[in-house]
Amino acid sequence: MAVQIRELGDRRYFGDEEKKIVHDRWHADCEDCLMDDILARGAAVGFEPDDLDQAFGEGYEYCEYCFDRRDPKRP
Ligand SMILES: [Zn+2]
Repeated sequence: MAVQIRELGDRRYFGDEEKKIVHDRWHADCEDCLMDDILARGAAVGFEPDDLDQAFGEGYEYCEYCFDRRDPKRP
């Protein structure tokens, strides 16, 4: 399920509830995704469990910047 979050913590995936987009924090390019802005809008959600299938199951779509067909290494 998707849960409202106030801080990113150590989650890998987080969603923008208004735009229905899921971001991957392991992806370096996701720096441009304005995570702080999403948090500030109160639109940030995390997923339980913290994986992509869960996000898709909630109706979220890939973020174009995070998901560009490269599979990022774990930082
Ligand atoms: Zn992103």
